Amino acid sequence: MINDGIVNVSYIIATILFILALGGLSNQETARRGNWYGIIGMTIALVATVLGDVERNFEYLIVALLVGGSVGLLLARRVQMTQMPELVAILHSLVGIAAVAVGFANFMGAGHDYAGAEKTIHDIETYIGILIGAVTFSGSVIAFGKLSGRIGGKPMLIPGRHWFNLGLLVGAIWFGYQFVVQSAGGAGIEPLIVMTVIALLFGIHMVMAIGGADMPVVVSMLNSYSGWAASATGFMLGNDLLIVTGALVGSSGAILSYIMCRAMNRKFFSVIAGGFGTGGGTVAAGGDEDGEVVPVEAHEVAGMLAGAKEVMIIPGYGMAVAQAQHIVYEITTALRKKGVNVRFGIHPVAGRMPGHMNVLLAEAKVPYDIVFEMDEVNDDFPDVDVSIVIGANDIVNPSAQEVPDSPIAGMPVLECWKGKTTIVLKRSMATGYAGVQNPLFFKENTRMLFGDAKDTLDAVFKAL
Ligand code: NDP
Repeated sequence: MINDGIVNVSYIIATILFILALGGLSNQETARRGNWYGIIGMTIALVATVLGDVERNFEYLIVALLVGGSVGLLLARRVQMTQMPELVAILHSLVGIAAVAVGFANFMGAGHDYAGAEKTIHDIETYIGILIGAVTFSGSVIAFGKLSGRIGGKPMLIPGRHWFNLGLLVGAIWFGYQFVVQSAGGAGIEPLIVMTVIALLFGIHMVMAIGGADMPVVVSMLNSYSGWAASATGFMLGNDLLIVTGALVGSSGAILSYIMCRAMNRKFFSVIAGGFGTGGGTVAAGGDEDGEVVPVEAHEVAGMLAGAKEVMIIPGYGMAVAQAQHIVYEITTALRKKGVNVRFGIHPVAGRMPGHMNVLLAEAKVPYDIVFEMDEVNDDFPDVDVSIVIGANDIVNPSAQEVPDSPIAGMPVLECWKGKTTIVLKRSMATGYAGVQNPLFFKENTRMLFGDAKDTLDAVFKAL
């Protein structure tokens, strides 16, 4: 309906908007604007693709857009902030299944009459697109299960799992060769189906073998895969915008995986090989061998906070569960009015998705200039009077430094125990996501304020 020139210009504008969106999202103050760039870019991309590429059957397209759009809208409105990570995982799976569906449709459709080397290249693009798509799909479904607690966090380690992976890889290469050869003679659907099954199995096995503590890397890695799957689909369809957009998602996901690995002091390949991390976060810590814990009441905590000069707030996943960010903001404002210097220390893997805590604090309007990354504040703890740990566990676990065979060994943590007093807010003595006991709770200068973080903080605020 519109000519190629207009489509190309629209694609360039959309690409620029996507890059601006990514730039905007890298900073809390510009994140909202970044989102808008993304929305406008995506709208331009959709309209240009529909008007430029589609010639008939508009009614199917409109129905599909309406159904997909409504489901998306409904899900986004309904989802609780705590379910966000699993929503992201399941959305990645949709990118994966879309790449598989487009790949098969593209192969079976009679729309292209490539020949010779061009056909071989196109077949390889199709094969790789379906392969990455299938791994992304099944891996994301398992990640969804693990993040939502439907599947346990314990790594599933089958005997000879590295050989199993190697077997799948060799199988995928062999069937790829078969596919290209058979496709030249007009066949090839069987090897394509076998490879899809292999890729699905690989995705399941890869994420099942990864323990709770390493899930952040998996989430960002699947994010990256979903980008590469989209990019491969772009090659299949000869759509430049899809290639570029996919590459943007793929490379930013890869950078995020690198940042997550660095934050957890892990090597990327050892995470992918699996086997780290243990339980699913509901195991009750034994405790006796570690000594006594000292519980406190909300009014005592209020007294300690009011008498402090330096307060460090360390939020974790429990703050998201309790939806305590708003009352945290109220307490912060009250303390700052009293002249207390309040700062937030954010661990890179706090919560259940990258930037989880920053999103919550921004939602509650906590000023950005008092929110710091772990590295910026970790040396300051000896000068902190009161650290208040709100529903965090693994990210303040000293055994990451002290116990060499711990599943979280080597992960940098917020060293709040070096401060004068640490107050831990949680409901029980249960472990965090990695299923590891936390010696912090038994330290001499630690006090436990038991209960739902929102309820206990409400009480602290009243007492303040
Ligand atoms: P943790 O999962 O280690 O601990 C959260 C704690 O919050 C629990 O011990 C729980 O204790 C407490 N809690 C839960 N609900 C409430 C509530 N309503 N009120 C008060 N406390 C509550 O979280 P952290 O943020 O410390 O660490 C993140 C973990 O998640 C790391 O292991 C990380 O690897 C993993 N992870 C991170 C991802 C990311 O991208 N950020 C993605 C996937 C996994 P209790 O039940 O006793 O209340």
